[in-house]
Order: sequence, then C-alpha cells, then structure tokens
Amino acid sequence: MKIAQVQVGKIKIPLKKPFKTALREVRVLENVVVKITTDTGHIGYGEAAITQVITGDFMGSIKGAIIDEIGPKLIGRSIEDFESIIDLLHNSLVNNTSPKAAIDMALYDLFGQQYNAPVYKLLGGYRNEIITDITISVNEPEEMVEDSIKAVEKGYKTLKIKVGKDWKKDLKRIKAIREAIGYNVKIRADANQGWNPKEAVMVIRKMEDAGLDLELVEQPVKAYDIEGLKYVTDNVITPILADESCFSPLDALKIIQNRAADMINIKLMKTGGIYNALKICSIAESFGVECMVGCMMESKIGLTAASHLAAAKKIISRYDLDSPNLLAEDPIIGGAQYNEYQIRLSEKPGFGFESIGNIIYD
Ligand SMILES: [Mg+2]
Repeated sequence: MKIAQVQVGKIKIPLKKPFKTALREVRVLENVVVKITTDTGHIGYGEAAITQVITGDFMGSIKGAIIDEIGPKLIGRSIEDFESIIDLLHNSLVNNTSPKAAIDMALYDLFGQQYNAPVYKLLGGYRNEIITDITISVNEPEEMVEDSIKAVEKGYKTLKIKVGKDWKKDLKRIKAIREAIGYNVKIRADANQGWNPKEAVMVIRKMEDAGLDLELVEQPVKAYDIEGLKYVTDNVITPILADESCFSPLDALKIIQNRAADMINIKLMKTGGIYNALKICSIAESFGVECMVGCMMESKIGLTAASHLAAAKKIISRYDLDSPNLLAEDPIIGGAQYNEYQIRLSEKPGFGFESIGNIIYD
C-alpha cells in the first residue's frame, strides 16, 4: 500500500451556539482536511483545527505546510514502513503541530486498513467506549446555569465550565452552576490561562472552602509560566491539569518531573498527532500521572482519531471530546459513533470512515 496522492481541503460547519473561552470565540468551524489516497485505492482522512491563539497554526500555514513541505515527501512511500514515514513527517519542519496531526491521523487510518484492524486495537485496545464531558462556554452566570441544566437533562455526568475571565465572577459562575445542578454531576473548570498564579490560588481555595467540589482545574495560568503552574499545584488541594503548557512529550516530562501539574491534557493538535501522544502516555504512565484526551474545535474526523487514542490506553482516564456535539451538522458518515456523551468506536479497519461531505478540495 503506497501513497499515491495527498489532497488538502476545507470543511466548514456552523456551531449550535458560539463557543466562548477566556482566549477566543468561535461561531463556525473552518478546518483543514487531509485526504491521502494509496495505489490500492484506500483512503485515509485527517483534520487540522485552526486554533492560532494556542498552536499558532492558521488556514494558510497549515495548507502550505502540507502542500509545499510534507505532502510531496510522502508520495511513493509505503504504509508498511510506518515508523520511517512518521520520522519523515516529524523531521520535515519544526512546530506546525496541526498540519502534522492531520497527516499523522490519515497515516494511522491507512495503517489500520493495511492490517485490517481498528486503530484503537492496534494501539492497545483497552476499551471500546468512552464517556465525554460537555463544555459550557463562558457567559453571564445565568446563561451558564441554563446551559448546564440543559446538559444534565441530556444525561451528561461531567461538565467542563469555561472560566478565567474575571476571578470574582468566575466564583459566582461555579457557585451558581453547582447550586443549580447539585452534587451528582462532576464539574471541571478550565481557566484557559486566564488567571495569574496568586489569583488562581486564591480563587481555587475559595471554591474549596465553599465546598464546590471541583474535580480539577485546567490551565489556571499562562502557558509559558511553568513555575506559576507549579505554585498553583503546590498551594491548592484541587488537582491541576496542564493543557496549553504541554504540547510535546518533552513538555510533559518537564511538567511531571517538576510536579508542576497533577495531570496532563493530551490533544492531537498540540502533539502533532497520535505518535507523539503515545509517547506522552508512556511518560505519564511511568510516573503514575493520569491523562485526559481533549480536543480543539474539530469535526468528527479529528475526534474519531482522538477517540481511538483515548480508548486504547489505560492511563487516559478522562475525556473531553465533545466538539462534534457542539456542531449544528455532521457531514461525516462512519467513524466514531456519537450518542451525546457516549462515544463508541467502529470495529471497521482504520478509523472506519465511510464518506465525508462538505469538503471543498483545493
Ligand atoms: Mg483546556
């Protein structure tokens, strides 16, 4: 099975309602899709999310990296030589984790098809079903309470509450939500770098004192501020999860060795795909540090890949893979099967995609 063609396209899907975090607001998903076709007629799909405030990668840079740099080098290469293709991918250019992730996904999709097995089984096959949380965008407390109640009514057992705008109001937000939904639903708070270290310690301690029972707090401080992250981790009881501070396996090693966070959030757009995500899993597992698999604003293409990773490894114990549920349409047939919070993996070879609509190829 040799790579014959690498195509790049754009997928555009409106959101049900605007997605708002301390860093950004998204109304329409507009991502890059990669389609790799082999000489045997097999097709592998991958996706790169446009999240320039976190990864630095945007539409033009992602397309350019694939069309001008990575794509031409892959033509004629055999999927059986998997390690050498991945080596070529990661040594083709530094950074650019989103285009690398899209290519990596398409290669894993083909790798599974080559050996006639679903990817999650090739990676370890620990489970075949996962339960995702749902994100509540940062808005006025009343609107967040309404959104939280709706999510609980749909059966979600874990809410991920976006905060990090203004600590006093953040405290009000979480208090109001906890009062409205009771204590049978878990609450994760994601500050998306929105607090400074002292503020973070103060507000998390206030939440602890008020008995708000947070499962964890994600990325309280700036991505670069590992000392600040450690300061927060050292000074609160609530577990702290590193997200924007951790892209690569080396980042994970530094954070874990310095005890700068209690857990790691793995996202394919940060690691450059599944291959490096597996390295983070191995590092974290060696230290007994649990991981979450999260996502950017991605369609079911990227989320199927993330779900296969999440299902494969025991050390991945938390799932924040809700973006397909935030979209108004799903043009992807096959792949992971979403039933609100429940994600079931297809037993078909690779990622099990059947057809993908809404893509405009260049
Ligand atoms: Mg996050």
